[in-house]
Amino acid sequence: MTEPLVVLKDVQKHFGDLHVLRDINLEIGKGEVVVVIGPSGSGKSTLCRAINRLETVESGTITIDGKALPEEGKALAQLRADVGMVFQSFNLFAHKTILDNVTLGPIKVRKQKKADAEKRGMELLERVGVAQQAQKFPAQLSGGQQQRVAIARSLAMDPKVMLFDEPTSALDPEMINEVLDVMVGLAKEGMTMIVVTHEMGFARKAANRVVFMADGQIVEENTPEEFFTHPKSDRAKDFLGKIL
Ligand code: ADP
Ligand code: MG
Repeated sequence: MTEPLVVLKDVQKHFGDLHVLRDINLEIGKGEVVVVIGPSGSGKSTLCRAINRLETVESGTITIDGKALPEEGKALAQLRADVGMVFQSFNLFAHKTILDNVTLGPIKVRKQKKADAEKRGMELLERVGVAQQAQKFPAQLSGGQQQRVAIARSLAMDPKVMLFDEPTSALDPEMINEVLDVMVGLAKEGMTMIVVTHEMGFARKAANRVVFMADGQIVEENTPEEFFTHPKSDRAKDFLGKIL
């Protein structure tokens, strides 16, 4: 593997009695694309949220590019900016234009000049295919377009790693590919990505590794080809039997 960019060591977390992350050890190399897959409730979202520090963990360490996750304050805001996150629900600011959605972070957190942020913002909107919609509001766009704006908004912060938590599962089927295509493009350009998805086509096309989670544990890890054709654990076999 290349130099690790995201490293989780012995990470533990409970929600009350529920042991939601059990001794998670995971290293993600620079430029690596890891697909996280597993049954509902297995802890995939919690894992993403822990990496982004939207959730605290009880023990173990999480480092991004060699730096431990800060507790709070400015350092935390900086770290969040280094870790882009795209959720199932698009989370755009409803009362801001598409372009403003993309430039807000760079202006506020990265202290970019408005004109510079807008120039870069338009390039990113172009790249994800929604430049025509720059002056519209989120509700005027389709779900697929909104999710592509959400990706552009994350990219505008120049993140070191991008987390995607089921980015296509709230979309109508005909819009899934337009979002996955943008993600495949990012992967090809060398973005480090952690992607929670059950889209096998994406995993096969873009992932270096599939991580299968069940009950808060990483049960198995393999290349997409091996994982989908020869799952080793009964849990993975059972899960794949249900989704394939
Ligand atoms: P996944 O994304 O794999 O479906 P999650 O990480 O969302 O799983 O959730 C793992 C488990 O933790 C689930 O049983 C869920 O109900 C529980 N959980 C998630 N968030 C919270 C929370 N804030 N408080 C209590 N339980 C939670
Ligand atoms: Mg989830």
